[in-house]
Amino acid sequence: MTQANQETKYDDNNIFAKMLNGDIPYHKVFEDDKTLAFMDIMPQAKGHVLVIPKQKAVDLVDLEPEYAAAVLMTSKKVMQAQRQVFEREGIIQMQLNGSQAGQTVFHYHVHLIPSSIHELGRHAVTQADQGELAEMAKKLAEVINA
Ligand code: AMP
Repeated sequence: MTQANQETKYDDNNIFAKMLNGDIPYHKVFEDDKTLAFMDIMPQAKGHVLVIPKQKAVDLVDLEPEYAAAVLMTSKKVMQAQRQVFEREGIIQMQLNGSQAGQTVFHYHVHLIPSSIHELGRHAVTQADQGELAEMAKKLAEVINA
């Protein structure tokens, strides 16, 4: 079996599944019946947010159309809030499929990163200050819910 094949089996104990089950804390930005958005704990730029579906999907291949649409709609909301809160137009939308691409959490997710492709920080390396993450999540949520 190839590495890619091993990863196509959804692991109910992955870190994002634990968040959806309420087993570990996170800094929530937005939630609806099909999606959850929260601050990335090791951001590649200030304001890095992740959007996940409430569906057991490893990567894009698994994602059901209704959840794909919901993730995009939530991503639009988050991105508009990032533009306002961080006062910048440029937001990177990124999504990795498979460890070969650098994927480290095997529950489908979209990265929304207020940055430029020329300035992007390293992937999942430096842990951010929890207080700063909480503050950013609060500001983004306020804009989305306004
Ligand atoms: P990927 O490598 O595309 O699978 O991205 C996984 C992302 O999840 C990385 O950017 C990590 O920084 C982020 N991450 C890992 N653990 C947590 C966590 N507990 N809370 C928030 N983000 C996390």
